[in-house]
Amino acid sequence: MSHDKIVKHEHDVLVVGAGGSGLRATMGVSQSNHTVACISKVFPTRSHTVAAQGGISGALGNMGDDDWRWHMYDTVKGSDWLGDQDSIEYMCKNAVESIIELEHFGVPFSRTEDGKIYQRPFGGMTTEYGKGIAQRTCAAADRTGHAILHTLYTQALKNNVDFFIEFFVIDLIFEDNKCVGVLAWCLDDGTIHLFQSHIVILATGGHGRTYQSSTSAHSCTGDGNGMILRSNLPLMDMEFIQFHPTGIYGAGCLITEGARGEGGYLTNSEGERFMPKYAPNAKDLASRDVVSRAIQMEVNAGRGVGKDKDHALLHLEHLDSNIVHEKLPGITETAKIFAGVDATKEPIPVIPTVHYNMGGTPTNHYTEVIADGSGNIVEGLMALGEGACVSVHGANRLGSNSLLDLIVFGKSAAERACKILDNHNKKHPKVQTSTIDNILSSFNNTRNSSGDISTAELRDKMQKTMQRYAPVYRNKKTLQEGIDIMKGLFSDFNNISVSDKSLIWNSDLVETLELNNLLYQSLATLYSAYNRKESRGSHAREDFPDRDDKDWLKHTMVFVDEKGNSTFDYKPVKLDTLTDEVETVELKARTY
Ligand SMILES: Cc1cc2nc3c(=O)[nH]c(=O)nc-3n(C[C@H](O)[C@H](O)[C@H](O)COP(=O)(O)OP(=O)(O)OC[C@H]3O[C@@H](n4cnc5c(N)ncnc54)[C@H](O)[C@@H]3O)c2cc1C
Repeated sequence: MSHDKIVKHEHDVLVVGAGGSGLRATMGVSQSNHTVACISKVFPTRSHTVAAQGGISGALGNMGDDDWRWHMYDTVKGSDWLGDQDSIEYMCKNAVESIIELEHFGVPFSRTEDGKIYQRPFGGMTTEYGKGIAQRTCAAADRTGHAILHTLYTQALKNNVDFFIEFFVIDLIFEDNKCVGVLAWCLDDGTIHLFQSHIVILATGGHGRTYQSSTSAHSCTGDGNGMILRSNLPLMDMEFIQFHPTGIYGAGCLITEGARGEGGYLTNSEGERFMPKYAPNAKDLASRDVVSRAIQMEVNAGRGVGKDKDHALLHLEHLDSNIVHEKLPGITETAKIFAGVDATKEPIPVIPTVHYNMGGTPTNHYTEVIADGSGNIVEGLMALGEGACVSVHGANRLGSNSLLDLIVFGKSAAERACKILDNHNKKHPKVQTSTIDNILSSFNNTRNSSGDISTAELRDKMQKTMQRYAPVYRNKKTLQEGIDIMKGLFSDFNNISVSDKSLIWNSDLVETLELNNLLYQSLATLYSAYNRKESRGSHAREDFPDRDDKDWLKHTMVFVDEKGNSTFDYKPVKLDTLTDEVETVELKARTY
């Protein structure tokens, strides 16, 4: 493709991604005097945020006493002390204001009798530093993400944001080690676009689709993280993958933790309510890794339900059916469609399913991307949302803390970007022809590739490998096998066959580019999981069952090169808080 055919755009800020995080950041910048564009491969309201059910946390105290410090304590503890405490403090402290702001933007939250925002209990959320159970999760029935995403999109439209919808960003563009824009492909007319900007904000979401059974949308391929690795930058804490205890058996669709928040509980094949055995205080509302592991242990002990004795049952049928219909309408519908079960009359079959990626593009608490373990900043590049790792979730995320992460850091990313730009020379640098040529030549190689293996076949092999060799419980042997197989699949990508060579609505090519991103991230996960020789949060090593703070109280930073080889760097965990309003939450034994 000749360069004069490339369509050029210039903006001060470019946001890649129109999920909750991308839209909140876009909206923030659009309220300033800086120009902003938002690019999305799917229509904004189809981003995975739309699927979030249970809610968004914040110590509003509408249903009883609450305090952001208790929220912070829970989050540090839930992160198994791998979370950065400056970021966690920032998030929990700003939660209340950010949620009220969402309410004012128009999010239709469920209400209490006296008209306040309704809040439900969620796993790991406590009062008075672990003493009681907090009702901290604000909900719009069980469609909270839907309500937030639609509200933010309409607000962005109101502010006349420049949207580029159904544009696929291929790669980041750097000049003199500074990020200066992206190259994108317009899916409906096949044109190639050069977007130049002083700041690129990556908000491309998680990479749940590296696995076979996942609650994430098919579009959750972590494209931004693929771009980061191809730019010789590291990803952080990729070994930490959250399995949600209640994916529908067979289909993987999510049954929100809100179901247990409303009084649901789990049983095994003997009809025993087993969670009190594993978590005497929190019981069915213990954090997700605890509940997922408990189900796995029941299955391993031969007490799994069903023909293959491989899952558990979630009971809601004892609850008042009016409450179930009012508070959980979405999941009753999901249970009906995907499990053929009327949740008000019979239990739902459930199994731990990949749900959330704690790891991603490393950032400081201002959401600026960092390049190494010393915390050096990559100029012109910011990241947020599930694809980023500002490390508020550490080794494990508490339910309802992700929507909060999107909103709080989306807002602060916009503020930070505007602040940087206020003193910025607003001239866009010339992008070298060779930089664009390199990206385009790799894009065209993929498009014209006519090897022996189809995209669907290679993706299937990758997903099955992750499912089998990087599950809830891992050990050296299975992880090594997983790395060996995945390295083979990574090089098989050079032998891929793309049948459709056109540039217009070529979903075959989109999926192939996504697969390339997924393969990079699968390797990053396997290498990091093999490398971390301890158990912490969601990372459960059978051969190293204990947490090892002496050697492993640090973030993994992994680089994956174009041959699929890895190198590591490490970053210390931030145990210092931002203010002296809180003292560093001390390392304590794990008790739930
Ligand atoms: C079923 C489900 C239920 C959940 N429930 C909750 C909950 O109740 N509470 C909670 O706190 N969290 C919940 N989560 C987690 C939370 O919803 C997600 O972590 C969060 O919504 C991710 O938002 P995001 O902005 O990072 O990305 P997403 O919403 O995934 O959006 C990614 C955006 O990036 C764009 N994009 C990606 N790649 C490209 C590319 N190459 N070119 C152009 N655009 C690109 C996409 O088009 C999309 O707009 C849930 C998750 C799932 C899967």
